[in-house]
Amino acid sequence: MHTYDCVIVGSGPAGLAAAFELVTLKPDARILLLEREKTSSGGLRNDCKMNFTYPIGFPTEYWDPETASSYLARAETFLSPEILPQKNLDTYQKRAARIGVDLLMIRQSHLGTDGGLKLIKELIARLGAAGVEVCLEEELLSIDRDAKTARTSKREVGYDQLVVAPGRHGFDFLRRFMRDNDIAYSDNSIDVGVRVETKIEHYPIVKDYYDPKFLFPERTRTFCTNSGAAHVVQERYTATNGQKYYSVNGHAYSHEKASNGLVNFAVLRSVEFTEPLASGQDYAEFLASLAMLTGGGHPIMQRIGDFRLGKRSTADGLNGDLYDFEPSLPSCTPGDIGLAMPSKFLRSIWKALKQLDTIVPGVLHPATILYYPEIKLYANKPRFLNEFFMAAEDIYLIGDGAGTSRGITGAWASGLRAADGIRMRKGW
Ligand SMILES: Cc1cc2nc3c(=O)[nH]c(=O)nc-3n(C[C@H](O)[C@H](O)[C@H](O)COP(=O)(O)OP(=O)(O)OC[C@H]3O[C@@H](n4cnc5c(N)ncnc54)[C@H](O)[C@@H]3O)c2cc1C
Repeated sequence: MHTYDCVIVGSGPAGLAAAFELVTLKPDARILLLEREKTSSGGLRNDCKMNFTYPIGFPTEYWDPETASSYLARAETFLSPEILPQKNLDTYQKRAARIGVDLLMIRQSHLGTDGGLKLIKELIARLGAAGVEVCLEEELLSIDRDAKTARTSKREVGYDQLVVAPGRHGFDFLRRFMRDNDIAYSDNSIDVGVRVETKIEHYPIVKDYYDPKFLFPERTRTFCTNSGAAHVVQERYTATNGQKYYSVNGHAYSHEKASNGLVNFAVLRSVEFTEPLASGQDYAEFLASLAMLTGGGHPIMQRIGDFRLGKRSTADGLNGDLYDFEPSLPSCTPGDIGLAMPSKFLRSIWKALKQLDTIVPGVLHPATILYYPEIKLYANKPRFLNEFFMAAEDIYLIGDGAGTSRGITGAWASGLRAADGIRMRKGW
């Protein structure tokens, strides 16, 4: 059996950053990076826009502005992103401020889905050249904490340090992992919302600010804006009871691809549960299954024209002559979001959309589509033993799956921070 100084699980930004930092600290370290898929499956691969301003992507319970900024600076030095220009935003900012909405100014870069894939390949090749053993299509199944061994889909290995960064798709895996290894955790918060799709001419702010971050009252915000060659996509998840469900998302290709003239972005509301509801995941799965029931096994889409009238959308459309673009995710079922989304979320999101329409007039054009559900489950919060995300002796849990980040740069910073923890404890 091979024994490694460090086994890292997941080749998303959190795992990659930890690997780069550790191999730099100790070039002769035996480091194994495991990735269950053929290539990293998170945001690096999907649209790959990176935000370099706190607090975007940084859960404030783990990151204060100074700590996050110092890690962001390290991430930026390593990734050397091309920061996008932002212009002509004064008017939008003034309009927002007048109605109690914040427009955050965030330093951003955007590689697109094709550019992200290229970046992943480059980073993996660099890690290999630096001596890290990168094993794709090999999944961590379980560990024996006492023996310090890990069972993968292909073999058994020994480890001294273990860094687990399985991302949002690894939410279930991480839950099981924590239960099996007596690591206490909570998952009491979720984000629920819609993905909005419209023509760029109805949301022209994106020409001046690629991913505008609006913060509305009632913990509601815009999130993950994509434009140009932009598409709404559906991600398949398996609920704890085995039922399949979809959550929608969005991505865009780099500016080298021809634009389809569309923009999409999420409007999400965050909720934190208190007793007696213990699990955000259970709640999210219940909501998703209601959405699947209403949509006949698919997400629902509704045109704003129908939504305003309180009517379901149909394939033909009530105001068909006004519907001036085809949905980029046509497999969704035209329907009535009000049948599937609890009013606490729906009211806040509709209020936010109306505010947005007074800041960027036109976004609520009758043709604009709302897709539902978009649910973010990144709130498996382990009880950490130290500030470096060590959740059990020599085991670090990081990235979106462990709730230490909510975006690529936050995940990258989490990987650096875990590596700092290993450096301090092990003297690397
Ligand atoms: C469609 C989509 C688009 C997004 N777009 C953006 C964006 O543009 N900008 C942004 O900042 N954020 C974006 N995000 C969020 C972003 O993906 C995350 O914030 C970030 O990738 C989290 O990094 P991570 O390293 O924690 O996890 P991930 O990037 O999700 O990586 C985790 C990796 O672990 C692997 N894995 C899971 N379990 C195991 C196991 N048991 N064994 C081995 N490997 C395992 C997974 O296959 C995955 O490749 C997007 C997310 C999605 C889903």
